[in-house]
Amino acid sequence: MNNSKIWLSSPHMGGSEQKFVQEAFDTNWVAPLGPNVNGLEKDLELYLDNNAHVGALSSGTAAIHLGLILLGVKAGDEVICQSMTFSASANPILYLGATPVFIDSESDTWNLCPVALEEAIVDRIAKGKTPKAIIAVHLYGVPYKVDEVNAIARKYNIPVLEDSAEALGSSYKGQKCGTLGDIGVLSFNGNKIITTSGGGAIVTKSKELKDRAVFFATQSRDDAPHYQHSQIGYNYRMSNICAGIGRGQMEVLDKHVGLRREMNAFYENLFKDIPAVTVFKTDENISFSNYWLSAIEIDGNNEIGVTSEQLRLFLDEANIESRPLWKPMHLQPIFEHYPYYGATVSQRLFENGLCLPSGSNLTNEDRERIRSSVTAFFKNKEL
Ligand SMILES: *Cc1c(COP(=O)(O)O)cnc(C)c1O
Repeated sequence: MNNSKIWLSSPHMGGSEQKFVQEAFDTNWVAPLGPNVNGLEKDLELYLDNNAHVGALSSGTAAIHLGLILLGVKAGDEVICQSMTFSASANPILYLGATPVFIDSESDTWNLCPVALEEAIVDRIAKGKTPKAIIAVHLYGVPYKVDEVNAIARKYNIPVLEDSAEALGSSYKGQKCGTLGDIGVLSFNGNKIITTSGGGAIVTKSKELKDRAVFFATQSRDDAPHYQHSQIGYNYRMSNICAGIGRGQMEVLDKHVGLRREMNAFYENLFKDIPAVTVFKTDENISFSNYWLSAIEIDGNNEIGVTSEQLRLFLDEANIESRPLWKPMHLQPIFEHYPYYGATVSQRLFENGLCLPSGSNLTNEDRERIRSSVTAFFKNKEL
């Protein structure tokens, strides 16, 4: 029997990536600029929105860092951040010497809770500081409550940095994720919906802002024949080789979104008769999810006494990778002493949730192995 590892989310090439990379070699554009970088930016702009301006960068984390700089975040400022996320959403706040203020999730989208968000803003203002920015995240490709978050952001005149690292291909009320905040962030890390082996992008609403991001990303070089600098610079531009992979990946993005959504439908079907398990879904009337990762929540008080950790270990025995949900930032040793607003929704999700294999390259045989393992796990428990 074939018992090779079934991964949570692994790179899935479309076919023409190597052609773009070969072109880069043939023309000697082996540098962090060139036709593939420009081409990938154009491809993304066409895909996202006619008014989007995209700067290709070395990572999604770099895009968040530059995004906060563009929004004027400086040392001593406060920045609001969704607690339940990958640490890369929050680390750039610390790079800038600013203070993160973490917010709980709500149960519908598992993302930024609008009630706790407003409570935090009101309290921070009362304490003497208006937050400089709000970092909102579309977890696992499921859009956050965009209208609600934007309304609060506008009410208090605070810009939104939209962390769409997991949500390329998702949309909210017909508008693509990445274009829903004041500044958007994409990631093309190896495990994301498409990959450049490592990379990211910043999405802005004007060419001036995009040019400014690229200026910072290329060492803030002033216009002079020699190297002249009047601001701090960064080396954050994307390599033309990596961008070549990205151009190939853009050709299969929508196809891969469709395949990830099929994985989600597979899990919905697999768990439909197991009352202890809920498959994480978006409200399809409002938003469209790429289902980058399919995730489940196991009822913490279920009658058969199963836990997500037991299921994870059981699947691991069968060489099937699964992973707990993101551990909230306010529970992380590096961040736990910063302010936090909300209740225990994100903590409950962390304790009871699990991400399951979700790649667009999973086969029927992989699905059958997952099905039989999950079925065996719950059968054992019921006996
Ligand atoms: C992956 C990810 C990032 C960071 O992207 P990198 O390209 O890995 O730097 C940021 N935020 C979230 C929510 C992510 O999942």
